[in-house]
Amino acid sequence: MKLYAIIGYPIKHSFSPLMQNAWFKEEDIDALYIPFEVHHSNLKKTAEAFKTLGFCGINATIPHKTAIMKYIDSCDKAAKTIGSVNTISLKNGKMYGFNTDYSGFSDDLAAKKIKVRGGKVLVFGAGGAARGVLYALKQAKAGKIWLSNRTIETAEKLAKEFAVKAVGTDRIPALLPDVDLIINASACGMKKDDVLPFEQAPLKKSAAVYDLIYNKKTPFAALARKSGAKYFSGEGMLINQGARAFEIWTGKYPDIKTAATLFRRFSA
Ligand code: NAP
Repeated sequence: MKLYAIIGYPIKHSFSPLMQNAWFKEEDIDALYIPFEVHHSNLKKTAEAFKTLGFCGINATIPHKTAIMKYIDSCDKAAKTIGSVNTISLKNGKMYGFNTDYSGFSDDLAAKKIKVRGGKVLVFGAGGAARGVLYALKQAKAGKIWLSNRTIETAEKLAKEFAVKAVGTDRIPALLPDVDLIINASACGMKKDDVLPFEQAPLKKSAAVYDLIYNKKTPFAALARKSGAKYFSGEGMLINQGARAFEIWTGKYPDIKTAATLFRRFSA
């Protein structure tokens, strides 16, 4: 039996074990995917243990996506540029790192027919997830990208790195009527009392709001609803990042629909 794992802190709410184990079963692969709660102080020992025990693949989630890179033998170009790894493949005692958050996000944009090429995009949030989003938008040749964040200095630093334009939250209302796509790459909406971090203004009817958060009703969902714009939660990104990881490990692309059905049950 081949062994796979996900490490995070905390980890008990992760959907990935349900999804990956269902795909292994569906593809008739003798494998098991196990969640491990790993404190950052134990990350090095954990990485060594996976090698010693002959694990074949690992997913890393919050807070390990950047710290794990220290123990990886080789990372692909996207993971290096984004600065985080969420998928590791182990072969002959060596660890290879990938970032499937960005590719899963790109896959989901394509699946939802959200046009990015040449479009005007506003990204809110400047943490780890925003880095993958910016990389994907650049790859997809977005026409114009504005980046904003609660802490403007963080947005300014990240904007410089990815050659996009940083804007303060006070400038967002003037941009809203003109943007084609608004992406919430922040944790705004994870807490019940979170409010929209900028003043609301009407969006184009054809605009889309893409929220990386997948299990909450966020202020970004309300923003889309009030303008009659399309709204997409991060469920598709979550499933697609897992599918890309599965493909890296097994060479097979799994059935997205199986995961979508499971996700509905998981989050009910
Ligand atoms: P992170 O590195 O901790 O960054 C958090 C970001 O959210 C920062 O920009 C922070 O702003 C901002 N923020 C936090 N609370 C806020 C609030 N109440 N109002 C406005 N801004 C707030 O986290 P991350 O890894 O980037 O993840 C961001 C979100 O994306 C999380 O909710 C995560 O669950 C989600 N995510 C989803 C997927 C998926 O597959 N769907 C994948 C990855 C991440 P400051 O700089 O001002 O602190």
